[in-house]
Amino acid sequence: MTSVNHLSSAETIQLFERYVIPNYVRYPVNLVRGEGSYVWDSEDQRYLDLFPGWGCNLLGHCPAPVVQAVQQQVATLIHVPNTWHIEHQGRWAQMLCERSFDAQAFFCNSGTEANEAAIKLARLHTPPERYKIITFTGGFHGRTLGSTAATAQPKYHEGLGPLMAGFVYVPFGDLDAVRQRIDNETAAIMIEPIQGEGGIRIPPDGFLTGLRQLADEHDLVLIFDEVQTGCGRTGHWFAHQHFDVVPDVMTLAKSLCGGIAGGAMLARRDIAPSLRPGMHAATFGGNPIAARAGIAALEMIESEHLLDHVARISDVFRQRLETLQSQCDLIREVRVLGLMIGIELTIEGAPAVQACMQRRLLINCTQGNVLRLLPAMNLTEEQAEQGCEILGEVLGEMTSS
Ligand SMILES: *Cc1c(COP(=O)(O)O)cnc(C)c1O
Repeated sequence: MTSVNHLSSAETIQLFERYVIPNYVRYPVNLVRGEGSYVWDSEDQRYLDLFPGWGCNLLGHCPAPVVQAVQQQVATLIHVPNTWHIEHQGRWAQMLCERSFDAQAFFCNSGTEANEAAIKLARLHTPPERYKIITFTGGFHGRTLGSTAATAQPKYHEGLGPLMAGFVYVPFGDLDAVRQRIDNETAAIMIEPIQGEGGIRIPPDGFLTGLRQLADEHDLVLIFDEVQTGCGRTGHWFAHQHFDVVPDVMTLAKSLCGGIAGGAMLARRDIAPSLRPGMHAATFGGNPIAARAGIAALEMIESEHLLDHVARISDVFRQRLETLQSQCDLIREVRVLGLMIGIELTIEGAPAVQACMQRRLLINCTQGNVLRLLPAMNLTEEQAEQGCEILGEVLGEMTSS
């Protein structure tokens, strides 16, 4: 490896204090290098990362096939606009559709953009008087204004109003409430099959099937936001396959390109043409680099049998965390589906995240009291056990203090 002179964490923090808008709460660490489920800071401390890239690095840091594909592509053709045909984009679309449902793809650069495309498509596809979209409390769909309005969490709306009209919020898991709120202005239902940012909330049995039936009865577009759940995270290619329910539209991003920025919306083939020429675009969407990275990510999951591996690692976490729960009063509930892992505490989670970081374990906390792990698919069993062990120590100390 070539040696690089890194800024220290302290020097980096100084630059941020002066020049970077402080819209994020950041840890006081400058991360400079990653490999698999480990990252290093500029002081050369190594961390075990069970939340790599906020869910984006589903194949670990710097997965070799993605690195190679990007290195090769960046020296061949970096960008051409979508006024041309781009072979890699076409092949990538084919691979995504073959692994999901009979669809066509639109490419963009992020999750929120994919959801904006889905919102536009739902409105364009249905008659003009139908514009309402039902979304769910605790959901998260992104930060642009359409996706913000779709996100039924008041804390993300403060000071931004008036928001885009037409979103109808319903409690997650409440099928009767959905039925009651459908009227002749409803165009779509939009939902994360498993709520991620909302605290790893898994829908009650039959809920997604029920939504599919309601969408069919009322001719609504059923949109699954699989930005966090998709691309192998749950041990299936997509979470809807776990629940045996097929959406009309699916949005993807985060892990889609193995750590490179990229997003996509897949829409059923009879719905997709409603996004007609001139109605929507993304300049960098489906660019050759993202496409090569996306293809490499799918190929790596297959060649390394990572979907099967997810089931094994998921079991390790489930067993370890359930044992921990039986020993630790601070854990209210453990929720695991594939490599979406939520540990709901009876207390605030932030101090546990800090204490884990001091032991060089990286995890996340959402909704105030839910510790969230989104580990890489190629995490080893030893790494999973090591992570659970550190977590157990941390929670143990918090119990006794
Ligand atoms: C992260 C996330 C988004 C937003 O993705 P960005 O790439 O940050 O725009 C949308 N939906 C879900 C479910 C997410 O987890």
